Amino acid sequence: YKIATLKRANNQNAINNIKNIIAISSGKGGVGKSSTAVNLALALQKQGAKVGILDADIYGPSIPTMLGTENQQPLTPDNKHMTPIMAYGLASNSIGYLVDPNGAMVWRGPMASKALLQILQDTLWPELDYLVIDMPPGTGDIQLTLAQNIPVTAAVIITTPQDIALIDAKKGITMFNKVNIPTLGIIENMSYHICEHCGHHEAIFGEGGAKHLAKQYQTKLLGQIPLQKMLRQDLDTGKPTVINHPDSEFSQLYYQIAGNI
Ligand code: ADP
Ligand code: MG
Repeated sequence: YKIATLKRANNQNAINNIKNIIAISSGKGGVGKSSTAVNLALALQKQGAKVGILDADIYGPSIPTMLGTENQQPLTPDNKHMTPIMAYGLASNSIGYLVDPNGAMVWRGPMASKALLQILQDTLWPELDYLVIDMPPGTGDIQLTLAQNIPVTAAVIITTPQDIALIDAKKGITMFNKVNIPTLGIIENMSYHICEHCGHHEAIFGEGGAKHLAKQYQTKLLGQIPLQKMLRQDLDTGKPTVINHPDSEFSQLYYQIAGNI
């Protein structure tokens, strides 16, 4: 605990423009970390906050696609620091901007962790109320190194209601507890599906899982997001739902979650 706290304090200087760092995390891949991180960052911005997003998913960066900024590259005014890519008012950086999008990352853990810390620390972040970090899936070395070296204010855990996702979500909460980072709460993504014809809500991956988990770990269920075609399509075209359909019922759900943060 002590080492983690000390390291966090040491690194505070490099990113002292940032008031709060929120790590969006999950034990498992494909549950909607990136989707939630992007829409939530935009929802926080709508509340008047200054927000940035850091894509820490070094092996599968998806923020550039979801923000429609794939072909952009950060400028390096002094060959060391990078200016973040701006999209919809969000300041962003991602390993995806820096490497060939079709080249697979074959870095080992220590190199990947180092690259990530660099992207965080060498980016010329503007004054930010929140930096949302889209974390890589899992609870391995990279996640632990990040959690110990980045002054994370709090973590938000994303899960689906499915048992295999919930098991991994528990590992995520346990990891953050170990490094003394508070968990703000859990967001249940792909919670249900709303039929586009009849409006019926159907539970696809099960029901009540995240609520139960929140209770078990004495944290909050921050919100439930349905599995909807619109959410997927908007992200695939680089216009997240909070931007493309700001008045939709789905955007409202993100605003509510942002209000809880
Ligand atoms: P992760 O970052 O956890 O790996 P993603 O956010 O990339 O997961 O989500 C995986 C895929 O599922 C993406 O292609 C995304 O568009 C889609 N997706 C995520 N959440 C939803 C949702 N609530 N409704 C529809 N599609 C979703
Ligand atoms: Mg992702």
